[in-house]
Amino acid sequence: MARKDSILKMRDLLVKRRDALRRALAGDLSMLKSLSDQHGGDVVDAALDAVQDEISSKLAEVESRELANIEVALERMRTGTYGVCDVCGGKIPLARLNALPYATNCIECQRANENAGAGGNYAGDWSRVLDGGPADVDVSFSDLETT
Ligand SMILES: [Zn+2]
Repeated sequence: MARKDSILKMRDLLVKRRDALRRALAGDLSMLKSLSDQHGGDVVDAALDAVQDEISSKLAEVESRELANIEVALERMRTGTYGVCDVCGGKIPLARLNALPYATNCIECQRANENAGAGGNYAGDWSRVLDGGPADVDVSFSDLETT
């Protein structure tokens, strides 16, 4: 399959994923709203609400970030810069794009970036660690069980 066809196919997938995420995010908000409507002033309910709110907002955060990544990828497809390395301007191999549709640099530049990161690129690494993701949601669940 030609590179252009592969990217067009990927664009269809990204558009579908974007629409699904948008619906999920809209649903999350209504779910949060009905939760706060259902639960009264009970302390346990309030604690549960807080945990559920936190989990929902974490999930919404992850979904929002993926949505933003998709928007960027789609924008790059529109402007014809999708699949082009931000660093060296070379073509990012399709295999890498299939594995990582939001990749904005080629493997060589990514590796160079990671090697450099050991010395001076901590800001990016730390924000990834501190952002949390599904791992933080697990922590919230186990906290709930032990208390
Ligand atoms: Zn590159």
